Amino acid sequence: MLATVIPAPETVLLDVEGAKERFPVRRVYCVGRNYADHALEMGGDPSREPPFFFQKNADNLYNGKTFPYPPLSSSVHHEVELVVALSAGGADIAVGDALSKVYGYAVGIDFTRRDLQDVAKKMSRPWEAAKAFEKSAPVSALVPASKIGHPQAGGVWLDVNGQRKQSGDLNQLIWKLPEIIAELSKLFVLAPGDVIMTGTPAGVGPVVKGDKVACGIEGVGKLSLTVA
Ligand code: MN
Repeated sequence: MLATVIPAPETVLLDVEGAKERFPVRRVYCVGRNYADHALEMGGDPSREPPFFFQKNADNLYNGKTFPYPPLSSSVHHEVELVVALSAGGADIAVGDALSKVYGYAVGIDFTRRDLQDVAKKMSRPWEAAKAFEKSAPVSALVPASKIGHPQAGGVWLDVNGQRKQSGDLNQLIWKLPEIIAELSKLFVLAPGDVIMTGTPAGVGPVVKGDKVACGIEGVGKLSLTVA
């Protein structure tokens, strides 16, 4: 290894179910408004206008049992999402070839400082302060596609303190997984280690300190955490 002038940043590693080896994260892409009912609740158009993307930081992802409530917000929302982890990449990936690039899947939460996002939207500013903050993307252990295949349907749910808040189905995705990967690869050169959060169904809402959040995706996994 070549010497570095400051300590090199650590690679972010995610757990893989049933494996000692972990998954190294390169980039994190997120899809906006990918369920019609959530597009409607956010005041958007649920039609198939081209998907849009934003990013979180690789080190926003973690496997953990607590979510630290972030500073400078009084409205932090939960967004439960199917998480896709890539084992291969490329540019201009064909829809028919896209799923061959997938290593596996997890359930995750795209925590969002909604108040900061609302200001950003009004002022046509970028979303990073709302989306890419510390620990903003807790995820379950990845499950390899070699074990579960590529989920196309199945319940997506999130409870806060035992009360159902979000409920949807993967079959309601406006842009399906192969289309998301193909579209992303027109904009960016994808690579092994890239992670995609695929959007959230309706029912997003605030969490407060002390809340117990549980969520899951049928056939993929579950995630439980406490807001600290
Ligand atoms: Mn989201």
